[in-house]
Amino acid sequence: MALHRAVGCDTTGCLALYLSTPTAGPDLVLFAAERAGWGVTAGGLVMRCPSCRTHGLAVTERGNCPVCTGSTHDGPHGETCHHCGHTVPHPAVDEIGDEVVAGPAR
Ligand SMILES: [Zn+2]
Ligand SMILES: [Zn+2]
Repeated sequence: MALHRAVGCDTTGCLALYLSTPTAGPDLVLFAAERAGWGVTAGGLVMRCPSCRTHGLAVTERGNCPVCTGSTHDGPHGETCHHCGHTVPHPAVDEIGDEVVAGPAR
């Protein structure tokens, strides 16, 4: 069984998690987390999620944010995280109704 590699925020009461792919090594996870906005101290001993790091606000509600697992809402540009502000653009769906993400011809 593959394990998801995850790093959690060390702020008390903060629920933020950064999830990585099961194939990524521990070093790669920290690197990816840092790239996503997390604060990682030397050796990855203390982690700070982007929200705690930049706003000092703990993530108190879990949601779909790929960066901090915080709760998200529908913003003008996509699904926006309440906590770290990360935005996932809406997939190219709707509008017409059956338009699907571009891919190889069916
Ligand atoms: Zn945090
Ligand atoms: Zn977030």
